[in-house]
Amino acid sequence: VNKVYLYDCSSLTKFRDDPYVDIITELVKEIKPSIFLIGATSIGRSIAPRIATKLRTGLTADCTGLDIDSEGNLLQTRPTFGGNIMATIITPNNRPQMATVRYKIMNRAKKIPGFSGEIIVRKVERELIDRTSLRKIFMAKEEKNITEAKIIVSGGKGVGNPEGFKLLKELADALGGTVGASRLVVDEGWIPYKRQVGLSGKTVKPKLYIACGISGAVQHLAGMQTSDVIVAINSDSSAPIFKVADYGIVGDLFEIIPEIIKFVKK
Ligand SMILES: Cc1cc2nc3c(=O)[nH]c(=O)nc-3n(C[C@H](O)[C@H](O)[C@H](O)COP(=O)(O)OP(=O)(O)OC[C@H]3O[C@@H](n4cnc5c(N)ncnc54)[C@H](O)[C@@H]3O)c2cc1C
Repeated sequence: VNKVYLYDCSSLTKFRDDPYVDIITELVKEIKPSIFLIGATSIGRSIAPRIATKLRTGLTADCTGLDIDSEGNLLQTRPTFGGNIMATIITPNNRPQMATVRYKIMNRAKKIPGFSGEIIVRKVERELIDRTSLRKIFMAKEEKNITEAKIIVSGGKGVGNPEGFKLLKELADALGGTVGASRLVVDEGWIPYKRQVGLSGKTVKPKLYIACGISGAVQHLAGMQTSDVIVAINSDSSAPIFKVADYGIVGDLFEIIPEIIKFVKK
């Protein structure tokens, strides 16, 4: 990072769309970047379309891939038509080129030893922050998001039924991880949607991803194939999941997982 623009103001401690959007829009108008990226987090997804509208430019939401062509166009790739095809979108006529980018899709930037950027402290204009006021904040019950988990034990149709997920939970607990799932079992109602990994679910990049009874459809792989280490347990040796797995175990998950749990607990 070469420059960080800092708006240090107590009124901005809690997120509100209006002031955040106004401040960022003014800054973008002033520094005129060619490309402006925002994380596709809940805050990012809320402010990005508002900023794009104020700047009268386009926005490609929820990108899963980015590149730049020889003319400086940002190539913004994202799933479309229900995830059946990938579209690459360019914004040739308007600037900035704006996109929100899915969480965990990029590798964390490497630290450059000895490098130091510039922090530019900016004044907050009063009229920007006083249009709305917060009356009360209700805290939601905090639950661990699977995108933050370092270890995920994920189950698919091969787990058989909702009861089968108890075994996966036992393994996840023994390893200090959490449980994920394929879309088929979410559609069956065996496990909530927030645990779904894949194109129409969450993109995860844990240190260890254990896929149990998951065939490895492209839509599932899209959400987990950049995990550091992938272990697949599947009774079918020709299952596509083995193509992306670092370690593959061919066999019945109900025989294999209890053995792993015993080993981990020892
Ligand atoms: C637009 C679109 C978006 C989608 N988005 C997603 C998404 O986000 N995430 C996602 O996961 N899918 C998604 N899908 C669905 C995807 O195409 C697959 O249908 C789904 O991933 C398959 O789930 P599965 O692997 O659990 O089931 P299956 O494909 O039925 O595989 C079950 C596997 O379990 C194995 N098995 C069975 N019994 C055992 C046992 N006892 N021990 C070990 N192995 C066993 C079998 O050999 C098989 O390989 C999407 C599809 C579409 C069209």
